Amino acid sequence: MSTLRFHAVKASLKRRPKKIKEEKRRSEVFGQNVFNETAMRQYLTKTALTGILEAVQKGTKINRLIADHISTGMKEWAISKGATHYTHWFQPLTGATAEKHDAFFETIGDGLAIEKFGGDQLVQQEPDASSFPNGGIRNTFEARGYTAWDPTSPAFIYGTTLCIPTVFVSYTGEALDNKTPLLRALQVVDSAAVAVCKYFDKNVKKVNASLGWEQEYFLIDNDLAASRPDIVLTGRTLLGHSPAKGQQLDDHYFGTIPNRAMAYMRDLENECMLLGIPVKTRHNEVAPNQFELAPIYEEANLAVDHNSLLMDIMQKIAKRHNFTVMMHEKPFAGVNGSGKHNNWSLSTNTGVNLLSPGTTPMSNLQFLTFFINTIKAVQIHEELLRAAIASASNDHRLGANEAPPAIISVFIGQQLTKVLNELETVTKGKLSPKEKTDLKLNVVGKIPEVILDNTDRNRTSPFAFTGNKFEFRAVGSTANCANPMTVLNTIVANQLIEFKKEVDALIDEKAMKKDDAIFNVLREYIKTSKAILFEGNGYSDEWEKEAKKRGLSNNKTTPEALKIKIAPSSIELFDKLGVMNKVESEARYEIEMEEYILHIQIESRVLGDIARNHVVPTAVRYQNILIENVTGLKSIFGDKFKDLAKEQLSLIEQISQHIEAINSLVTKMTDVRKTLNKKTEIEVKATGYCNKVKPLFEDIRYHCDKLELMIDDELWPLTKYRELLFTK
Ligand code: ADP
Ligand code: MG
Repeated sequence: MSTLRFHAVKASLKRRPKKIKEEKRRSEVFGQNVFNETAMRQYLTKTALTGILEAVQKGTKINRLIADHISTGMKEWAISKGATHYTHWFQPLTGATAEKHDAFFETIGDGLAIEKFGGDQLVQQEPDASSFPNGGIRNTFEARGYTAWDPTSPAFIYGTTLCIPTVFVSYTGEALDNKTPLLRALQVVDSAAVAVCKYFDKNVKKVNASLGWEQEYFLIDNDLAASRPDIVLTGRTLLGHSPAKGQQLDDHYFGTIPNRAMAYMRDLENECMLLGIPVKTRHNEVAPNQFELAPIYEEANLAVDHNSLLMDIMQKIAKRHNFTVMMHEKPFAGVNGSGKHNNWSLSTNTGVNLLSPGTTPMSNLQFLTFFINTIKAVQIHEELLRAAIASASNDHRLGANEAPPAIISVFIGQQLTKVLNELETVTKGKLSPKEKTDLKLNVVGKIPEVILDNTDRNRTSPFAFTGNKFEFRAVGSTANCANPMTVLNTIVANQLIEFKKEVDALIDEKAMKKDDAIFNVLREYIKTSKAILFEGNGYSDEWEKEAKKRGLSNNKTTPEALKIKIAPSSIELFDKLGVMNKVESEARYEIEMEEYILHIQIESRVLGDIARNHVVPTAVRYQNILIENVTGLKSIFGDKFKDLAKEQLSLIEQISQHIEAINSLVTKMTDVRKTLNKKTEIEVKATGYCNKVKPLFEDIRYHCDKLELMIDDELWPLTKYRELLFTK
């Protein structure tokens, strides 16, 4: 008897929502466990406070003396909140977060002890990091890596541990994490954008990139999830027949949130409030048991940290509610998967969102400048953006008619398409006074200030302009947003630098007026970036054909998509701007390819195991019951049994066929794996796993799912889709 499955189903049906207390208003609780400005004012000396604020606002360095002051204040604050330990909290290239706790406690001889945490411990640590992926960086250079404090992301307390966000780099300075390149990219886009802003407003001193992510996820009862080896080991179901009812009725999306899920969300949101993660929106998503959580957008580095932290605590809090959070991009076949839209914009220290149309023609020229430059950047580097979201798990989702295709394109809506068309007709060279007035008043001036309610949103577009921000929708739900954010900000920075060069050249060499020069360059950009603009249905086959004609890339798998990362032009781009040097770019490529291989390898092993050790034995058992039945019929009815046992005989035969198919396919898969594992070249291995191993998953699954339909429900060992998806 498949006891585990039934035990799990029984247990899950008995669960009741946990009671959640929300005694205080969220605004009161918000940021209570964060060493934010309020806490700093209370615990820091004046010098220390100024030091840290300047570091955050202007990027100035914090000297050791000030670091000592800060660490003392931070420690007092943390201890007052019940913290006993501290850790440098970082994001190695595993995509997860890492921490190693040390106690504040220190002995001082004679059996005495004190609480200690000095500037040294705050600023720099040397975790034994030899087990983190490094793509050869530390082999080539130095064996050691160290973590260094990032004062722009405030320290926080989780449980009884003070967590200090840090970067993680090798002793020779190569980034071993996701945060370092992001911080560099944010710096480049800041300076490039400030330089362009000067055309419009001399007071702009700083431009921040903002990120608002939307996290989708599935909540599955913990016992049910734990009963499936594929969920436990790979984060998704590798087999399972679709339930009779799926998402076809569209009755889940924005529906009433089930009570248990609601209790979980409230608990999670309370924790988010304490940690200063400004979560705001929650709702059911399209698939059964699928939900979304979105915050108010923040400065990109902080938003990335907050998303990483969130993904962490989501799992932890889920345990209290007996849930497993499935963050995978495609946990169930035939049911919508999960993504993580990255809403991105640029805003100035003077409070202007550079991607928000303004009221005056001048502010709209500024808007158009940033808007068109972003489009141009995406047009040139679409393949890099595609690579930034490539992963084995996201491959299942992209292009599966529920998420954007693997082709990157930009959607801007009717109104802005019209504006660009009109701008394109500006005559080349100097504008006549009349032309200029016309242009400013009729084209630039006419952009409606708020096109936020712009309902012509296109859900099939991977990169859509939604009123005052671009929404990068192809990002996967498990992704660390640092990667796509690093790429997006880098390519936009590069584009803004180019733009400024071109405009300045027209001003200096052709004696053009500033506005004329800007119009002229923008007009050319509109002409040359048309290929990336697409307003139609991104899911359609016609688009695939059309995109091919336009020369856009369509890299459907991760090994294909990642190639561009080590193209000379890409390496040069990141190197030139100081975001990643050659070694860092190559290391990342290698790590991601390696991760891809391991991912498919694990899935393949798990599938082989389930098919052979769970499905086949169950099929044999059921077949034996049938055989016993047929033998019985024969002994009672003699020759008449053939008529009476027609169904049973056919089932017995079919079961044998499926068993045979499963066994030979699993053997084939194992053999292919063996051959591939002997290869040393990473491309050969990854491509092999992609094109030779992965396709067998579908074939094996087909036979297993057929057996699931045939075999007595009482015998089936694996928790079924209907149980996983419809237990509330
Ligand atoms: P959707 O219709 O896609 O759900 P929302 O208006 O709910 O759009 O916003 C989704 C996300 O976009 C939220 O995280 C929100 O904070 C973020 N967002 C809104 N405005 C901006 C902006 N100017 N820059 C970056 N993110 C933004
Ligand atoms: Mg969205």
